[in-house]
Amino acid sequence: ISSKLPKSEVSIFTVMSKMAVDHNAINLSQGFPNFETDKELKNLVTQAMKEGYNQYPPANGVHELRQEISKKIEGLSGVAYDPVSEVTVTSGATEALFCAISAFVEKGDEVIVFKPAYDTYEPTILLNGGKPVQIQLKGKEYKIDWEEVKEAITSRTKMLIINTPHNPTGTILSEADMKELESLLQGTDILLLSDEVYEHLIFDGEEHQSASKFPKLAERAIVCSSFGKTFHNTGWKTGYCVAPEPLMKEIRKIHELTTFSVNHPMQRAYAEYLKNPEHYLQLAHFYQQKRDFFLDLIRDSKFSFTPSKGTYFQLLNFEKITTENDVIFAERLVKKHNLASIPVSVFNIDRKDHHQLRFCFAKTGDTLKKAAEILCSF
Ligand code: PMP
Ligand code: GLN
Repeated sequence: ISSKLPKSEVSIFTVMSKMAVDHNAINLSQGFPNFETDKELKNLVTQAMKEGYNQYPPANGVHELRQEISKKIEGLSGVAYDPVSEVTVTSGATEALFCAISAFVEKGDEVIVFKPAYDTYEPTILLNGGKPVQIQLKGKEYKIDWEEVKEAITSRTKMLIINTPHNPTGTILSEADMKELESLLQGTDILLLSDEVYEHLIFDGEEHQSASKFPKLAERAIVCSSFGKTFHNTGWKTGYCVAPEPLMKEIRKIHELTTFSVNHPMQRAYAEYLKNPEHYLQLAHFYQQKRDFFLDLIRDSKFSFTPSKGTYFQLLNFEKITTENDVIFAERLVKKHNLASIPVSVFNIDRKDHHQLRFCFAKTGDTLKKAAEILCSF
């Protein structure tokens, strides 16, 4: 049988999480917390179920939730998206990304993606007949070379995808980056897909630069986020996207074909929970403490690192330990030392990040301590 995605394999997240189970390993690979989501939020879900919110919600999302999403963005970015026509609740950010790309990318269209890139962008572009144009992030800090982006833009460029804070490197885009992007896209019809699932996980007093904050970007941007990442419940698979009405109209056509609508009781619960901004504003501090706790434990190990600026991922460089490549070392680490991580080169086609592994620090102190003991044993 012919494959529409001949180069796609089982996702590295599935592979590594399975290996972690098979080897009874500490799992710092796939990005999810190993602690519970807030009891208050769970109670709100059961309450919604008891109140009978168990049938299809409106296709584009429960209205109260869309209102709260809109208020949250207005509070953070100062921009008001219309809950009726410009906000859609999706089955995780994964679906939002899929719908946004599928709604606009046609055969022959070019889409600029930055490497290392989250694993769903390129297959979705290919599935729609588009061509991913890869630009490597530069240097230790994984910066965007805007000159290179300028040169990569052609008359066929339909979309550009950014991800800030960035998975897997933990880098963030600055205000200056967003202004460069703004001036680069001015006068073009290029759409911007901004993956902001880690918007609230940003450290050292830095401010998240959402595409929604920059009017000339916002007018062409689809901004995606994920409640699973924000509220420690990745298994609830709920996220959303916002975009100006003409763009959202097209995205909703795909959304109705993909899932039609998303779980009802969770949407009711999130709507209530979002009313208290502390629930998301406290996350930067919460995860910065975890990052610092983890890094302090491994500071004297042979692994070297630049502290993650955002997300709940930390890259560790193992050059001082072995010349093995990251895939081989990650395999040895899980099989022989019972610690699972993600080899970065799988996100990365051009520049092989052969000596870096990604570790998820959304874990309890106890788990991070055990992981650090293993890392310090090298
Ligand atoms: N984008 C990035 C950069 C991610 O790391 C993830 C994984 N959470 C997603 C999108 C998908 O988010 P969700 O789990 O809400 O589908
Ligand atoms: N976003 C998560 C990560 O980067 C994984 C999501 C998934 O398993 N598809 O680890």
